[in-house]
This record gives sequence, C-alpha cells and structure tokens, in this order.
Amino acid sequence: MAKTHNLGFPRIGAKRELKFALEKFWRGEIDRATLEETGHALKVENWQRQARLDRVPVGDFSFYDHVLDTSFLLGNLPQRVRGLEGDALDQYFRVARGRSACDHGCVHVAAGEMTKWFDTNYHYIVPEFDRHTRFTLDASRLLAQIEEARSQGHTPKPVILGPVTYLWLGKSIDGSDRLDLLPRLLPAYAQLFDALAQAGCDWVQVDEPILVTELDPEWAQALRIAWHHLKRDDLDILLTSYFGELKENLQLAFSLPVSGWHVDAVRGADEIDAAVASLPEGKVLSLGVIDGRNVWKSDLNALLDRLEPIHAQLGDRLWLAPSCSLLHVPVDLDQETDLEPEIRSWLAFAQQKLEEIDVLANALNHGRSSEAATLADNAEALASRRNSSRTRNPAVREALAGITPEWGRRQSPYAKRAPKQHAALNQPLLPTTTIGSFPQTAEIRQTRAAFRRGELDESAYTTAMKEEIARCIREQEALGLDVLVHGEPERNDMVEYFAEQLEGFAITRFGWVQSYGSRCVKPAILYGDIRRPRPMTVDWITYAQSLTDKPVKGMLTGPVTILNWTFVRDDQPRRDTCYQLALAVREEVLDLERAGIRAIQIDEAALREGLPLRRSQWQSYLDWAIEAFRISANGVKDETQIHTHMCYSEFNDIIDSIIAMDADVISIETARSRMELLDVFEVFEYPNEIGPGVYDIHSPNVPSVDQMVALLRLAARRIPVERLWVNPDCGLKTRSWDEVIPALRNMVDAARQLRAEHEVRQASA
Ligand code: GLN
Ligand code: ZN
Repeated sequence: MAKTHNLGFPRIGAKRELKFALEKFWRGEIDRATLEETGHALKVENWQRQARLDRVPVGDFSFYDHVLDTSFLLGNLPQRVRGLEGDALDQYFRVARGRSACDHGCVHVAAGEMTKWFDTNYHYIVPEFDRHTRFTLDASRLLAQIEEARSQGHTPKPVILGPVTYLWLGKSIDGSDRLDLLPRLLPAYAQLFDALAQAGCDWVQVDEPILVTELDPEWAQALRIAWHHLKRDDLDILLTSYFGELKENLQLAFSLPVSGWHVDAVRGADEIDAAVASLPEGKVLSLGVIDGRNVWKSDLNALLDRLEPIHAQLGDRLWLAPSCSLLHVPVDLDQETDLEPEIRSWLAFAQQKLEEIDVLANALNHGRSSEAATLADNAEALASRRNSSRTRNPAVREALAGITPEWGRRQSPYAKRAPKQHAALNQPLLPTTTIGSFPQTAEIRQTRAAFRRGELDESAYTTAMKEEIARCIREQEALGLDVLVHGEPERNDMVEYFAEQLEGFAITRFGWVQSYGSRCVKPAILYGDIRRPRPMTVDWITYAQSLTDKPVKGMLTGPVTILNWTFVRDDQPRRDTCYQLALAVREEVLDLERAGIRAIQIDEAALREGLPLRRSQWQSYLDWAIEAFRISANGVKDETQIHTHMCYSEFNDIIDSIIAMDADVISIETARSRMELLDVFEVFEYPNEIGPGVYDIHSPNVPSVDQMVALLRLAARRIPVERLWVNPDCGLKTRSWDEVIPALRNMVDAARQLRAEHEVRQASA
C-alpha cells in the first residue's frame, strides 16, 4: 500500500487568521493566551484538513518563520537579545522584528536579517553564527505540538530543518567558517532525535534542500559527516529535498544512512527513475508528485501511468506527497466563489492538492476503478484547460512569432540618445526624481475599496484619484523636483494593477501566501495568452502631465517582474509567457509616448527573483528575461527616456545583463550604508545614467541634507556627475506625507548644493 504524507501546510490560515492575530498581539490589543489560542486553532484546522494522510506534519506551523523556530529549538539566539526581559516568545518576536528604543527604557534591538527562502517569495530570518556559537537544545515546543497532534487523533511526523542546511542558510558575523560549528551542532541534533524517539515518533522528516543546489565539496562532505554521525536505529529519518533536481548530488543523497528519501518529482520528474534505481533495499522513497509551487490541477491519470509500475516494484515503500511544503500556495480554492467556474476547474490550492494525493494513493492501492469518477473529472478539467479558447489567442501567437531582434533595439546607442533626451526633458545636472508611488493614505485605500465594492461609482472614483494626482503634482512642483510622477494612488499592488487589466489573468480573493511573518502577498494567476485590450495607465499619466510643464514619468511594471510575482501557466515555457507580457507592456509604452510622455519607467523589482537556484542555469534565464525587458522598452524614439528601477544593489553577478537592458536611467537601492554604496560602484559600472537611492524609504527617519550630500559625493567618485540622478531608494507609498515632504526637500537641497559646487568648479576650470 502506497503511503501518503505532507511536507508542510500554509500557516496563515484560509482567511489570514494568523496575520490578524499577530498584528493585534503586536499592537497590544490581544494577550499572549489569545494569540496561542489562534495558533492552536489553526494547527487543529490544518491537521483536520490533512486527516486523510497517513502522517501529518508537525513543527511546520510557526508564529513567524520556521528557520527562526529552528534557531530557538537549537538555542542559537543572537547575543543582542540574550538577557533581555521577557520570555521565549518575547525574545522570538524581538529577533524577528527588532524593537526600537522607547521612552520607558527599553533598549533598541536590531531585527534579524531576512532573505529569500531558496527561489521562493518566502523570506526567512537568517541564523547568525560566530566562532563562539554554542547550541543548547530546547525541544519543548516541538514536543508539545507532537502531543497536540496526537490528542487530535493524528499520527505526527515531526518536520525539522537539517543541520547542514541550517548552517548553510545562516551567516557568520565574525568571518569564521560556519562549517566549523558542525561538531558542536550535531550533538544537539542527536539529543533532539533522542527526545523524538522517546516521545514515540517513528518517522522524522529532516529537510536538506541544499541537495538541489551546486554544493562546494566541503558542504557535500559536511552532509556525509553529519548523517553518518546522526545515523540511528530507533528512529526513521526521511531525508527531504525539494525545489529542484538532485543532479550531481543524487548519488551523495542516496548514499547517506537514512531510512527514506523525499525527492521533488515535479521539477525533478526526469530523475524519478534514477531515484528508484538508487533506492537501497528496504528503504522508503517519497515522490513529491504534486506541484507545491503552483496552483494547477495535476494530471492524475498521467501520474498514475508513471506511478503504477513504481508502486508494483516498491509497494508500501512508495510514499506520495506534494513536491515541497504547501507553504507557497494558497489554502483553499473552495473560497474562490467569484472565480470564473471554467478557470476554477483548472486549479488546485493546498487543500485540493492533498485531495489529489489521496486520490492517487487510493487508485494505486485499490485500483483506478475505486476513483473512476474523480479521475474522469480530472481528465475532463485538464482537457477543458488544454482546449479552452481562453488560454490561446491566435493574434497574440502571431504577434509573438513576428518578433525580430529589431524589436529589442533602440534606434541609436545611448551616447546619441542622451543629448536628445536632455534637451527634450530640459534636464539639469543631477536631476531629481522619485520612484513612482507617493504616500497611500487611509483615504486613498478606502476610496479604492469602496469603488471595488461598488459603493462608489466610476466618476466619483476618478475624481477622487485625480484629486490625489493633482496633490502629488502640486507637492512635487513646490519641492522643485525635476522629473515628476503621478503618485500611483490608483494602484493597490504593482503587479495586480496590471494583471486586472490584461486578458489572460485571474485574480483571487483569498489566494494569499506568506511572504514573511504576518506579511502576505496575493499573486495573480496567469492562465492564458496575454492581451492588452486597452491602455492601462495613459489616462492617469496624461492627466498628471496636463497639470505641469515639468516632465511626468510614465510608470509601468516590467514583464519579468509581472512574471516572477505571479502564478504562471505551466503549459508553455516561462520565456514565452514573459514575451507575451513584454508585448503588452510595449504597447503601453508606445501609447504613452504617442500621448506625449517623454520619460517612461519600467520597474523590474523582481528581476533577480527569477534567477534559478543553480548558477549554471542563470545565463539562459537572464538571456530571455533581459530580451523581454528590451522588447517592452526599446520600441521608443531616441528622445524618449527609458528608466528602470530595481529594489536592491546586488549587481556584481549580473552586471552584463543589467547593462544589456540598455535603459537610459536605472534607479537602485543604496541608501542603507555608506560602505555598501562604494562597494556597489567598485564593481558595478553602469554605462548610462544611474540614480543610487540616497533616501532609505524603509525607515521613518528623515535624512539630512548633509547625509545625502555625503552619499552623493561618494557616488560621484565613481559615476561622472553628468550621469548621476538623485532619488530615493524605492517608492514612497509606505511612508507618510509628513516624512516624505521634509525628506524630499532635503534631497532637492542636496542636489542643488552639489550642482552649485560643480558649476563653480566648471567655471574655475
Ligand atoms: N514604482 C513603484 C513604486 O514606487 C516601485 C515599487 C518597487 O520597486 N517595489 O511604488
Ligand atoms: Zn523598489
């Protein structure tokens, strides 16, 4: 009999209950017991949803982040929170979120650094290590949850992060080698396994997802050492990898002395046979056949074709699961009552994916006839998706086939375009601008929500938005900014705004996934060929432009960013989908240009997010991603200035690609620290114009003129002033007007001061 299990379930709750409880707790509106009660209720509900599985995951639930949980499990708290008052949960949130100094004497504590969990949009708290790090196990919370699951009638399978991946995910803060800590870490894991065995667990899922990355020899060796050290007879370890193929690590993985392996059989579908062949006698193979990273129904009949012979060979040594934790998909499709029924019939969220696992296991164990009706429905849904006119638009396909290299090329090189643009824009030395959004006040959000609910009619809504745009223009003129923006009041989200207007997208109501802590995102679902039925931004931008003589930048989200922040169709290569998005953005760019807009910014905030986990695959991604951007941007005349924006400054490893985008101006994040600013330009030499952010919009602080002058001077050491722009790090939508106005006033003053110095220097030269 094939067995079923799950690697992890979304923690936020079908209605984001965890988010709301956490935020209330942090604001002091509910007490600890109430928060714990919500946590308990969510776990009970999640296990209930997984009750049909042979084993349910335990330890996947978290009040913030499972990597931070692991740090607490292992007693690895940063030095700066040790000894502060409060209990474990206080300390936990302190590391997660930091704490600012307050009037009644609490000390400032810096939050732990956050970074992306492999190639997902989930962010974990980076474990901190130094040469003195010691580990002391505290398994109490995990053990309590095991009891919690048992008391609900489930068979628990604890889920823990493996020791080598844990070290790999962290950073050394004193330059020492994290791997030196392995001998100290392994006893804590051995103790943990003792405790789990004592608690009566049989199987434990231990995640070592670094097995799908390109491992340096010392990390591969660390896995060997760790797992030979942790080898035991009284507990069955399921060594778990996901997010990709094992490739050259396959033999290593299957040589480790554990009782079973879980592999990603979606992205690693081509490795299934190799995994079966490598499986030692008597051991378990868990195949992650249901895609945990996307929202499409699986082809159950095709999977059964694949699985039946493997099941015949392995019997009850075959386990079935989603490819990875379901953390990365929304909870339950049944809530999406507004979705077009045909489109909904193509989808599966976490709940539905578990049902698919159940159907597969039944069909394997009792014959396909036991699930005949479900399998027939599944086949019908897949056929409907395959044949639907919603997914294929011949005109779009024809346009795509007609793309030539010319489409991605500007008419002239930068050196020839720049003077034309500077004249068209009347661009001063060190021009000042912002990244797009202005503060999104409560009123704006309420107006948008009322319009959405139908409580406000279109004309009242348009009037309200225009008033807001007029306010943004007025404020920017008063500040003396050079290139203005309309402020983006009409946008809820930089991707969803476009997804709502393009054909080929569906928008869900509750399709939230955790981004970090209490923060969730609701990716749109891209199911079909992309067509732009009408201009998306032109009215707003031209209205803004009509109010001022200064140039107003058109503001768009780029094709790569739309792609990377969306659940994308899986029936064609991502590249093809990205090119379709590029064509839609290109049409918008050309419409803006025709409407007299002289500068157009195409944000590619998520370009890096699409980088594959394996470096050897980076270039092929970058090639098409950059070409997609070029197609979207480069159809314009020389006079039109193309801007792009990226919310980070790590470019060393992709410099050539960034340069190849050939944007006239790029704005990037750099305000956080002086060191970083110089570091960036040590290696990043951008041949066109560049605006290193001099105002850190992530902080409520108002930077002084002197601070920004100092940053600009640093930048001017590496970038000729003729190519330097002055702008904040990112959009201003999360800030308030009373922070933004003084900060931008200082920014404009800083630019003027430097401009004056430069003119004096020129005059005396
Ligand atoms: N134009 C967007 C804004 O200003 C850019 C946001 C982003 O880069 N994340 O809000
Ligand atoms: Zn940004």
